[in-house]
Amino acid sequence: MKKIQMVDLNGQYEGIKKEVNDSIAEILETSAFINGPYVHAFQKELQDYLGVKHVIPCANGTDALQICMMGLGLQPGDEVITADFTFAATVEVIALLNLTPVLVDVEPDTFNIDVAAIERAITPKTKAIVPVHLFGQCANMDAIMELAKKHDLFVIEDNAQAIGATYTSKNGEKQKAGTIGHVASTSFFPSKNLGCYGDGGAIFTNDDDLAHTIRGIVNHGMYERYYHDVVGVNSRLDSIQAAVLKAKLPKLDGYNKQRWQSAAKYTKAFQGQEHIVTPKISCACGIQPSTCDCHVFHQYTLKILNGKRDALVKHLNENNVPCGVYYPVPLHKQKAYADSRYNEADFPVTNQLVKEVISLPMHTELDDEQIAFITKLVIDFVKQ
Ligand SMILES: *Cc1c(COP(=O)(O)O)cnc(C)c1O
Repeated sequence: MKKIQMVDLNGQYEGIKKEVNDSIAEILETSAFINGPYVHAFQKELQDYLGVKHVIPCANGTDALQICMMGLGLQPGDEVITADFTFAATVEVIALLNLTPVLVDVEPDTFNIDVAAIERAITPKTKAIVPVHLFGQCANMDAIMELAKKHDLFVIEDNAQAIGATYTSKNGEKQKAGTIGHVASTSFFPSKNLGCYGDGGAIFTNDDDLAHTIRGIVNHGMYERYYHDVVGVNSRLDSIQAAVLKAKLPKLDGYNKQRWQSAAKYTKAFQGQEHIVTPKISCACGIQPSTCDCHVFHQYTLKILNGKRDALVKHLNENNVPCGVYYPVPLHKQKAYADSRYNEADFPVTNQLVKEVISLPMHTELDDEQIAFITKLVIDFVKQ
């Protein structure tokens, strides 16, 4: 059996090696390292793929989130609601901009932000909601957009984990993750579903004015060379990363399909296991769940109900099966973000999830033998 890895980027590279190597060689020959033709070509191709008017590339997914908030003109003291159960980047940029983070609980089955909890958290100071499409599946965007409209709030989608996922609205309309809210951010970190070979990120929006504002912000607040109209940042996607992404983009749907097919095999194997809860696909598209791209499985995350999660992590590692706990600490309990405003009673789900979740190896190169080995190890250990 091939060695099992949490993320295996090597097999993917084999499939695009010639194109990537040739384009990197061309960039080295032409010295078009910054803002070269590959950046523009990738940007246009990603716009077409997503069906969104504007893609603005930038240096990483954390910058992308920050720039979204700067572009919307959020001011110190404005409250921004986001999920308690996610990667810290989201709350980090809210805090960095002196906005007030308001963390709320998530749903126990999809792990995504709980819309009722958002509604309870809205105050006259609330300006924006940041749903994170956690582990590869969209938050409940129909309800979030309705709530935002009712209270006149911006919606910033953190789409670092769900690029390529399709969201089907109640009315049957299909949109790509990251094209539904007012603006969205994504990350091209190597292990993401569309990853480059270094750092990268992008912002998406259908709003022409906001796109214009943001294009200036990523470039030191310049709209005309050496005239700085707003405070900006320096956040660029470089040509080498764009060349890698341009080679991978046509394969993204295929990559995501390999992920959801592996996820379906995991889920089938875990069927009927009393203490193991498999990920819920919240699918409104009418296609059989697990045979569509409603969920693109950035992570395949189980809940272990009988208190053996930590022992399982140890057991898997001892058997050379890597795994991850995303995330072990609720954001409202992290030293940097703890705040007396928060009430433990408001976070029953996150407080429980951090004890139960475990993410299994998930990437485009998993084979049946590996999946059978992993699932048997998990099942035998959890049911003892
Ligand atoms: C990866 C990630 C980010 C940050 O992306 P970087 O490119 O690493 O800065 C932000 N939010 C979520 C949910 C992520 O998973």
